[in-house]
Amino acid sequence: MHGMLRLSEVDSAKMPVAPVFQENGCAERRFCKANVVAHIVERLGLAAEDMLSVGDGLNDICMLKATGKSVAFQPKALETAEAVQQVLSSNLSEVLAFI
Ligand SMILES: [Zn+2]
Repeated sequence: MHGMLRLSEVDSAKMPVAPVFQENGCAERRFCKANVVAHIVERLGLAAEDMLSVGDGLNDICMLKATGKSVAFQPKALETAEAVQQVLSSNLSEVLAFI
């Protein structure tokens, strides 16, 4: 078993989190994907209204609400499906229609 890492040995609480997840002080979450959207807006000069985000979980909702277009792909929670403009259930490539 040399060189292999069992999942039980991985402690996700010790995983480093990129600073951009924390930069803009989301009121709901300490580490928030909406902060990453704000970072992209600032660094690349893009408008959030022109961006499309795709997510499936509760931790994606802030990001999905922060961009002009939003897609839930096989959402894991009703709240995620309700936060977006489009829900996709079968093929992720269908997101290309919304670009
Ligand atoms: Zn947030």
